[in-house]
Amino acid sequence: MYNITLIRGDGVGPDITGATLKVLDSLGLSIAWEEMPAGEEAVKEYGTPLPEQTVESIRRNKIALKGPLTTPVGTGFRSVNVALRQTLNLYANLRPSKSFEGLESVFKDIDLVVVRENTEDLYSGVEHMVGEDAAESIKIITRKASEKIVRFAFNYAVNQGRKKVTAVHKANILKFSDGLFLEVARKVAEEYPGVEFEDRIVDNMCMQLVQKPQQYDVMVMPNLYGDIVSDLCAGLVGGLGVTPAANIGEEGAVFEPVHGSAPKYAGKNRVNPTAMLLSSVLMLEHLGEHREAQRLEQALREVISEGKNTTYDLGGNASTTHMADAVVEKLK
Ligand code: NAD
Repeated sequence: MYNITLIRGDGVGPDITGATLKVLDSLGLSIAWEEMPAGEEAVKEYGTPLPEQTVESIRRNKIALKGPLTTPVGTGFRSVNVALRQTLNLYANLRPSKSFEGLESVFKDIDLVVVRENTEDLYSGVEHMVGEDAAESIKIITRKASEKIVRFAFNYAVNQGRKKVTAVHKANILKFSDGLFLEVARKVAEEYPGVEFEDRIVDNMCMQLVQKPQQYDVMVMPNLYGDIVSDLCAGLVGGLGVTPAANIGEEGAVFEPVHGSAPKYAGKNRVNPTAMLLSSVLMLEHLGEHREAQRLEQALREVISEGKNTTYDLGGNASTTHMADAVVEKLK
């Protein structure tokens, strides 16, 4: 029996979470969901988008499946999602992007993983105005966090049988901060002689990813570049509706789609459940349920490849629940 914290999320969150629970139920695993408040509803009831009991639940269960959360204006939170990652020290953000058969895209054979540092860099929140006409944001890079994230990327590569890790940076200009990240990456790489290592400057990396993405495998980078480069990779395989993420740390792991709460589609049962379904595939992998993870991913890929029961963003006109039902059918 697995105890898993569940956060349904704001906006389209309840739609995609409902659809995902239906699919997960059909796998027949024994899961006790502990549903916890967060986001807009939590503000109404508890005065905060991230109540302490929700954080405690994740600490206790060490695992959560989470829908997207809107950051309410004026709560003092820069972003609830960033706050959750920082509070639980979920230092590694894993964002795989793999081509789907049946989806139109420039490349057909993409299999990329961005490993994004999740706790520091320009997301540390050290930012202020300097007088009225200038602003300053501080980029923080530490040896400790850099070592942890680069080691995470290499361990992931070894465990998944992947061949290469590329460190992405701008050390030619940011000689101290990104210089430190690169120095640490080179040092950690020496501990993994079985995995090829190289580095790329982030601007060149973006161009290379658009021209020859097949050259790359696992890419590790500081927070901001990871945010941007992972969306670029998502765009290469079909967009935000199909891209999952895992936030992993020593105190727990939170699985969530890369996309946000898409408020204009809230309650319309229209958006694509794929990103949330693939996030639960990552969750099942994390739990060691490799067979079920594979079954679920395969069923979903078949539905997408057939193209008859897909949502608007994939060129179809199925609802969220309809697409999830098609996946359940495949799993029977
Ligand atoms: P968004 O990702 O919510 O939506 C942008 C657009 O992408 C949507 O209008 C829609 O056209 C498309 N889209 C997103 N998800 C889709 C899906 N599953 N299927 C089909 N199309 C989809 O980005 P936004 O509008 O910039 O952000 C809305 C809110 O979400 C903000 O409050 C933001 O802070 C929050 N957000 C939360 C997370 C998170 O919870 N991890 C991540 C990003 C943004």
